[in-house]
Amino acid sequence: MRNLAYIVICICLLIGCKVRQTKENEKLIVCSTSITADCVRQVVGNRLTVKSLMGPGVDPHTYNPRPSDVVLLNDAKLVVYTGFHLEGKMAELFSRLSERKAVVSFQLDFPKDKVLYTDGTTPDPHVWFDTDSWVHSMNGVVDKLVDLYPDYELEFRENYYQFLLKVQKKTRELKLKLSEVPKERRVLITSHDAFHYFGRTFDIQVKALQGVSTSQEPGMRDVVDLVDFIVQNDVKAIFVENSVSPKALTSVLSSVERRGHHVRIGGTLFSDALGSKGSGADSYIGMLSHNVNSIKEGLK
Ligand SMILES: [Zn+2]
Repeated sequence: MRNLAYIVICICLLIGCKVRQTKENEKLIVCSTSITADCVRQVVGNRLTVKSLMGPGVDPHTYNPRPSDVVLLNDAKLVVYTGFHLEGKMAELFSRLSERKAVVSFQLDFPKDKVLYTDGTTPDPHVWFDTDSWVHSMNGVVDKLVDLYPDYELEFRENYYQFLLKVQKKTRELKLKLSEVPKERRVLITSHDAFHYFGRTFDIQVKALQGVSTSQEPGMRDVVDLVDFIVQNDVKAIFVENSVSPKALTSVLSSVERRGHHVRIGGTLFSDALGSKGSGADSYIGMLSHNVNSIKEGLK
């Protein structure tokens, strides 16, 4: 209830605020997550200022907007977010904001036939791990940027094209790398169910302790099921995530040990947020490389 009240206050603040039309704000693009911000930066280069509401390691499913976010959103010329309910508590804010300023999501141009559903109706929001569809979905964002900044059209479209080629090349290279892990060992176990698109792209079976959102704690049944799976399939390593507490996975680890099976933490993966500067996972492409390299190393 407190969260809801807070969001209502944010919406009221947004509606009440007047856009400050300064020279800086004319060039300010505000993105929801570090992943969306990096992809937008690849398109706009140094022409515009791109800021992310959520920094490295921040969980978007449970994120509550801060007062400073309201100021940024209010000042932005364009707001960019993922969609598919990834930014659970921000969805209402973005929708209200779109009534009075430019707002665009990656969902807009994401190919509909590529969306995965968790229970037949709820879309899995971790769409950036379907790398081809993700770069395709940037079309809608690029069109919006070109609408707002027509002078940079050629430059933005060329940057986008170069980024698309880079992502496609990296995906091919990483697929090949992961295919070197024997098929029976290619099982990825993580804290929350963020890797189904990743599994489809890189041909690896995925299983998680929690559902696609971290907003609900895993239950006893989830832990028992995962422990059974690890023991029965002789899984050697499980992986923690940068944006999710490793506590629940640690309890899986000790339950597996009690059953006389040894499993270790194979490494930290970046699922819903990039890593901090210098981590090697501080860009979209860097995050993909880091994840594939860690999985390959962990499952050796
Ligand atoms: Zn997630």
